[in-house]
Amino acid sequence: MLSRQNPVLNVNLTSGSIKREAIDERVANHFLSGRGLGDWFLFRTVNPGETDPLSPENTLFFFSGLLSGTHFPGAVRNSLVSLNVLTGGYGESSSAGSFASALRKSGCEGILVSGRSPDPVYLWIDEGRAELRSGAHLCGKTTFKKRAAIREELDAPSASTCTIGQAGENLVRYALVNCDDRYSGRCGMGAVMGSKNLLAVAVRGSGSIRVHDPDVFDSISSDVRSLLASDPSLMNKARYGLGRDTEAYNDMGLLFIKNFQEVDFDRVAGIGYNAVKKYYERLVPCPTDCPVRCNRLARIPEGEPYGGTAVSSLEATPAYEMAHLCVDDIRTVLKAFELCNGYGIDIHSWSTCMSWAIECFERGIITRKDTDGLSLHWGDGPMLLESIRRIAKREGAFAGLLAEGVARASKKLGRGSEQYAMQMKGMEIDDELRVDKGMTFGILTESRGTGHTLGAFFGSFDKSMSPEKAKKLFGTEHAAFPHSYDGKADLVVLTERYGAIQDCLGICWFASHRAAPLLIDRYNMQTYALLVSAVTGLKLNEEDLIRIAERIITLEKTVNILAGQTREDEFPPDRFFQPIPNGRSGGMALDRDELDKLFRRHSELHGWDPTTGIPLPETLRSLDLPEAEEALEKAGCL
Ligand code: SF4
Repeated sequence: MLSRQNPVLNVNLTSGSIKREAIDERVANHFLSGRGLGDWFLFRTVNPGETDPLSPENTLFFFSGLLSGTHFPGAVRNSLVSLNVLTGGYGESSSAGSFASALRKSGCEGILVSGRSPDPVYLWIDEGRAELRSGAHLCGKTTFKKRAAIREELDAPSASTCTIGQAGENLVRYALVNCDDRYSGRCGMGAVMGSKNLLAVAVRGSGSIRVHDPDVFDSISSDVRSLLASDPSLMNKARYGLGRDTEAYNDMGLLFIKNFQEVDFDRVAGIGYNAVKKYYERLVPCPTDCPVRCNRLARIPEGEPYGGTAVSSLEATPAYEMAHLCVDDIRTVLKAFELCNGYGIDIHSWSTCMSWAIECFERGIITRKDTDGLSLHWGDGPMLLESIRRIAKREGAFAGLLAEGVARASKKLGRGSEQYAMQMKGMEIDDELRVDKGMTFGILTESRGTGHTLGAFFGSFDKSMSPEKAKKLFGTEHAAFPHSYDGKADLVVLTERYGAIQDCLGICWFASHRAAPLLIDRYNMQTYALLVSAVTGLKLNEEDLIRIAERIITLEKTVNILAGQTREDEFPPDRFFQPIPNGRSGGMALDRDELDKLFRRHSELHGWDPTTGIPLPETLRSLDLPEAEEALEKAGCL
């Protein structure tokens, strides 16, 4: 039996029924696993544009990757796919951790969740046997406490869990899911779980994963492990964790502050590597013993401000997010991250919401009458920590407003505040868009609305990326020039294809060329084709995988078109077309005409209409997506 023939669990929360269902062979061959399968099931079960993401009619999918449960280095990602609570279109959020591995080892490829339970419940999957259990006693607990309570009552101390916090229960639109202390943060997946009265999923699995050709698989795994372990930039992550990245972003002119009004944080040292390293307690390894070893647990000792705070999954994210708000104290950063993760709030969206609120407060658009008594100022740590608690609990009208996300909040408030809402398609922007055009263009075209994990190209700032190397590895010397628009649509399409396949295989992008660009010379799409063949026995080549990637990306585009998204929605707010007033990136701005050219080229490469971005009928046919063609036709888009 091939491991990819595991069934999926189909859980209807309204009726309480749980069925094991085989995955249709055509579907498995077309979408592989992970994000790909999640996309297909989402497309088949919702009506984008009509289905409210927080209604029982929305569906939610947890998918392991094709390599999950094996020892392949970096095969740790767990994909959650559903309608995006912020945009109404396509939503996806993946995380590292052991959940995907445990799920697969329990004999399930994924979980399909539909309906809404009449009472709070959690799902327990024990070596493939699944049951819904009462979750009433878990209500009001943090993500951490829910996990502890579930493990204790199941007497399963090593069970892997996905839990939501109070934010998910209270339908905060950017609520996250805590997957073994790694986080599926974006797109409001925690709110989707909350809307279904599903407080957690716990899994125990100890089966072995069989692959078609173990010798070939082991040989590729070992080669990739050696490559990862000898790459200098990945070894820096192993040595320092990701705590250095905030200062690196600042050096590249990418660290924006004050709601994108400025770049460069002159007090970045207070939250940088030297500040955080003294709180590093230990390495937190990933299940496949990935040599990148990027994850650290940090703890503040008792006796210091916020003593007892302990957080992992640090990466650069929390410091980067708090820098936007001008916080220069690492202990406040760690506490904010702990609160966000415990209450179940995505720190990216929260940071953008608070940036909007503070700018509006400073401009007199919002006053203390609106904020339930809070004064909003840059760098005010205690106020920011209090805001996390209030938003998670929707405590007071202002917290309730912010819990809706910056697009809805600014629309509801009015008073001209909309121009300070840094959002696209309803989702909070969290990246400087005026500097690195390859990164920017991938963010603007992301099928989730905005974000930097599906298509943003990160190679241009690599110091060892000469134009010659760029041409050899990425097909264009422009890959080495971050500030130029040239060639960036091609680069983004290439990155999107890699992202789609990595998400099908469940491979962490920190353990790939996405974090260490030069790796692509020896660890690339050809490697992935060999891996898929070794695991499944299917004879697939690079071209086959590119076709699968295009199918996935085009299906996501179809969901967004059906949800009403247009080309105009792909342009960011006006602020990004104004020159940055200061710092290393001073004077840089986006250019509409240049972006328009890139959008056209990007659509052409995907086989979509260059002007509207709508997938062309011949493309849908060549990708064997008749269902998408039918849906677009029915909606009057073709
Ligand atoms: S790169 Fe980091 S997060 Fe990803 S698998 Fe390796 S150690 Fe885990």
